[in-house]
Amino acid sequence: MKASIERVELPLETPFTISRGTKRTVENLIVVIKHNGSTGYGAAAPARYYGETADTVAALLPELLDAVESIGDPHARNQVHERMATVAGDNPAAKAAVDTALWDLAGKLLGEPVYRLLGLSASASCPPTSYTVGLDDPETMAERAKAAVDAGYPVLKLKLGSERDRDIVRSVREIAPEATIRVDANEAWTPSAAVRNCKALADYGVEFVEQPVAAGNAEGLRRVYEQSPLPIAADESCVVAGDIPAVADSCDIVNLKLMKTGGLTPAVEAIYTARAHGLDVMCGCMVETNASIAAAAQLLPLLSYADLDGSLLLDSDPYEGVSVSDGRFDLGAVDCGTGVAPR
Ligand SMILES: [Mg+2]
Repeated sequence: MKASIERVELPLETPFTISRGTKRTVENLIVVIKHNGSTGYGAAAPARYYGETADTVAALLPELLDAVESIGDPHARNQVHERMATVAGDNPAAKAAVDTALWDLAGKLLGEPVYRLLGLSASASCPPTSYTVGLDDPETMAERAKAAVDAGYPVLKLKLGSERDRDIVRSVREIAPEATIRVDANEAWTPSAAVRNCKALADYGVEFVEQPVAAGNAEGLRRVYEQSPLPIAADESCVVAGDIPAVADSCDIVNLKLMKTGGLTPAVEAIYTARAHGLDVMCGCMVETNASIAAAAQLLPLLSYADLDGSLLLDSDPYEGVSVSDGRFDLGAVDCGTGVAPR
């Protein structure tokens, strides 16, 4: 087994703003693992919010990949995760790069798509991905929402957390009367404001409200959940499977991400944990290349909601992934592995 790392800087199509700040480019790290004539690709999209940067991932990956090479078996992913846990502690994006590359490699060696190795069927009904519109003034967000609807995306996710949140949703609803609209406050609201906003947004047929209050405010989240007429999704409040019992009575949906859980293997564990607690599951992403989005797409048959538009927000992506049309990933077109290939 032979592993290598590449750092890639990815400009976004338009600057992307959420309540915490604006991004113009992101840095992802690609992991390539070769074994017996096959090549697996995975990626890390580190988030400073969760304590990682391109530098921390780049510093850690050689040690993680040494562990992979010494284990020497691309199918022994549990053993790899055990070893990574001793080497790395947190650092979920770094672990996700290794895990996703190993899953892609395993699928290629076995000649099967990864979703089939997970016991899933491409003919199951899979949710379409939302297309995320970054926070801006209501007119600009309505314009971007219209462009997304015209491009065929049936589900919009609006980033909120401004003085004009209700104007934003009203403006987008006017230009997209048929679209499914979900919103994400990224922790920006107080619990009282969140309850008021949820009541007001219900008039515009909003599907659900993601992370209304600060991740640390468990009591606030619970209050919003109890008083909101709209379903509540936990994102920053729910990072790994172990967080699920604590949020199970404070939300309807958890938003799981490979870059929070540390890859597909722990994401699957988190999905089944959430289901066992009666929660619906969304899989989301960072702004990230298809090298990791293709891996997340393998989970679609297990999901109630998908927000896997990371690559769609890039100006260009050096990797091809699972093809998307009208917001739907064509898993049936994946020949083997995750469906990732360098362009
Ligand atoms: Mg979110």
